[in-house]
Amino acid sequence: MSGKKSTRKFKTEVQQLLNLIINSLYSNKEIFLRELISNASDAIDKLRFKSQTEPDIIEGDSNFHIRLTPDKENQKLEISDNGIGMTFDEVLENIGTIAKSGTAAFMEALDKSKNGSALSPELIGQFGVGFYSAFIVADKVTLVTRSAGTETATKWESSGDGSYTIEETSKDTYGTTITLHLKKTEKDDQDFTEEFTLKHVVKKHSDFVNYPVIMNVETEEQIPENEQILDKENKPVGSTTRTVRKDETLNSMKAIWSRDKNEVTDEEHEEFFKHLSHDWNPPLERLHMKFEGTTEYSALLYIPSKAPFDLFHQDRKNGMHLYCKRVFIMDDCKELIPEYLGFIHGVVDAPDLNLNISREILQQDHLVRNIRKNLVKKLFDLLTKMDKEKYENFYTEFGQSLKAGVPMDFENKDKLSHLLRYKTTKTDGKLISLKEYVENMKPDQEDIYFITGENLNSLINSPHLEALKEKDYEVLLMTDPVDEWVAQSLTEYEGKKLKSAEKGDLELDKVDEKKKDSYSALFDFIKKQLEEEIKEVKPSSRLKDSVSCLSGDEYEMSAYMEKILKSSGQAVPDQKRVLELNINHPVIDKIKNIFETDTTNPVLKDYIGLLFDMAIISEGGKIDNPSQFSKVIGDLMAGTI
Ligand code: ADP
Repeated sequence: MSGKKSTRKFKTEVQQLLNLIINSLYSNKEIFLRELISNASDAIDKLRFKSQTEPDIIEGDSNFHIRLTPDKENQKLEISDNGIGMTFDEVLENIGTIAKSGTAAFMEALDKSKNGSALSPELIGQFGVGFYSAFIVADKVTLVTRSAGTETATKWESSGDGSYTIEETSKDTYGTTITLHLKKTEKDDQDFTEEFTLKHVVKKHSDFVNYPVIMNVETEEQIPENEQILDKENKPVGSTTRTVRKDETLNSMKAIWSRDKNEVTDEEHEEFFKHLSHDWNPPLERLHMKFEGTTEYSALLYIPSKAPFDLFHQDRKNGMHLYCKRVFIMDDCKELIPEYLGFIHGVVDAPDLNLNISREILQQDHLVRNIRKNLVKKLFDLLTKMDKEKYENFYTEFGQSLKAGVPMDFENKDKLSHLLRYKTTKTDGKLISLKEYVENMKPDQEDIYFITGENLNSLINSPHLEALKEKDYEVLLMTDPVDEWVAQSLTEYEGKKLKSAEKGDLELDKVDEKKKDSYSALFDFIKKQLEEEIKEVKPSSRLKDSVSCLSGDEYEMSAYMEKILKSSGQAVPDQKRVLELNINHPVIDKIKNIFETDTTNPVLKDYIGLLFDMAIISEGGKIDNPSQFSKVIGDLMAGTI
């Protein structure tokens, strides 16, 4: 900890982000207040919860509130809270840098968006600008904070121009005060020192905040009779009212989830969702429920319309908040929802919970387990009933998360399987359900076929699908890494087996045994030549036009799975695959002829090398020796071999 004032530089990406926020949100200035009030309310939540077990920490003051103090003359606005505050190190960690998960992903997305200088609010909304939104309206921001339970305070100040100062200071009470030195306003701009404007913005964006947002305002009050000056006829002289300053609470503080479902408007839900999620897009769907009976609780869940940038980030918090009789217990409540539904934002208020409940106890708590089960059920019902277009929007954003549930949630595997959607060899880029797939199956088709890989185009054109296409069988194209795990755990759908088009025997047509035997000497020879690369050479049951492909045994890892594991740094044992050759292709007969005439002919080696390389290239793989490959092709084209 340093006692002196020090000036520090923002990390480059913070400054970049700040500029973007300022430039892209100028038409939506007022939201800075929502963000700062949300932060203040979170800080009070934390302190209030901590005071349950450490009552001394609040120094006897349970009058939690957020105060707005406008100063018109000096064009300043102060937002202060008596929440948990921050230590010096916490300020450094939270405010000086962007420690948020997903920053890297966000900046990457920005780089990709052509229009990086004027971000659309949706894009920036997915990131959640929080504290930094102060710089939309302020050209200098001063934050003074004292962590509850400590003595010294910290002052942080910045003009948003690349650096900030930080120093120790003193503060009478714990909590945080943020002073915004407001930018000069133009004629039609909102003036955020105007009481009327502040009242309006708080009502609009922060009405449901759980703590009073207070402002000292000018009001007219009745002069008490004993203070009135009366004339001879006992009538008051002058006005019976006077102007006084009084604290006024600007928000209604009604917890949305505990209100009657039919009373809450869409706009109120939208604002509450934004408060919970820091997402600026309206939610796609909501579930507002009250359960009565043995387990009594209310729940309000939102499905976002856009996936956040850090959806798959390890440090990402889950979106569930747990309350007990409107007292905040914890956020990031992983016990309330399975990990693969962690993108849901919501609140559960369970009056029968113990306020001092710890995470460890929560896991065992049968009430919580019951709630979780119910929420999952209701969410599945909602998703199943959603109209097609809306569901597809949802699936594009969160399909990957949902798929992750298939190998994880054994109990709901069946329900999840109905929610899966895939592109196929027949849908021309459209998604279909497994149910639709089964309905479209050919009369003689017994299994559901799929193929996994990175690139949709190479999958559609994969030689592995030739025989299936000839039979007019549809094939599911699985291009998400998570699909590998789906395919492994979802072995059946409605009694139909899921079968990989690139593994095992497809058992489509019987290979002519006699013909097969006549190739066995050549195949043994090829196997010897390629000993290092493959484990077997087989006549193919899946090729029609192509000469060669690689396949695996039914229970082996697919090529894509191998790639995924390797790229995630896992040690994967080298797995030899089977080289399948199309014995109905003239090239194989040509090689057979050369082999039967002279096994020492050097061309034979070139041809065998090509067979292997072609198999790799056709599934989008990389060959070991591309220059050798080109040379042989060149020779072939020139007719010299
Ligand atoms: P977010 O709120 O999305 O985490 P912010 O940039 O708004 O991001 O804030 C970063 C962190 O700074 C918060 O997570 C919180 O720990 C801390 N913080 C912000 N405002 C306050 C406040 N008024 N009191 C205490 N801590 C705060």
